[in-house]
Formats: sequence, structure tokens, C-alpha cells
Amino acid sequence: MGRLILIALVVLIVVWLLRRALSAPRSGERETELKGEGKGDLVACAHCGVNLPKAEARSAGGRHYCSEEHWRLGPRDG
Ligand SMILES: [Zn+2]
Repeated sequence: MGRLILIALVVLIVVWLLRRALSAPRSGERETELKGEGKGDLVACAHCGVNLPKAEARSAGGRHYCSEEHWRLGPRDG
């Protein structure tokens, strides 16, 4: 009977470790999301709609673009 209790304890520890391992990446993602939000304003590219930090965007005429190519092409619907 002693062995059964030991096996049960080992199984419980393994399950606990697995749960910890599975929940760890989720909390990590939340942290990076919060850090990303704190960096600065996100703007959408007027051509392709991708979100990027305002500091990295190219701005022209009150619009923002993700790259020089899209800045040259201009708004997609324009
Ligand atoms: Zn773009």
C-alpha cells in the first residue's frame, strides 16, 4: 500500500508541474502585451492596415505608414 501512495504522490506532482508549465507561457504573453501597450501609441498603416508603434511609422498628411514603400503608394482606398 505504501507504494501506491508514493505513486499517487508522484502523479500529483507531475500533474502540478504540467499545469505550471502550461500556464507559464500565457502569463508571459500578458506581460509582453502590457509592455507593448506601455511603449507608446500604436498606429495603423493607411495602406495595409498593420499596427505598429507611432515612433516607427512614417507619417504624411496625418496618415501613418508601416514602410517607405507604403508611404510612396499612399492610402489603399485613395
Ligand atoms: Zn503598410
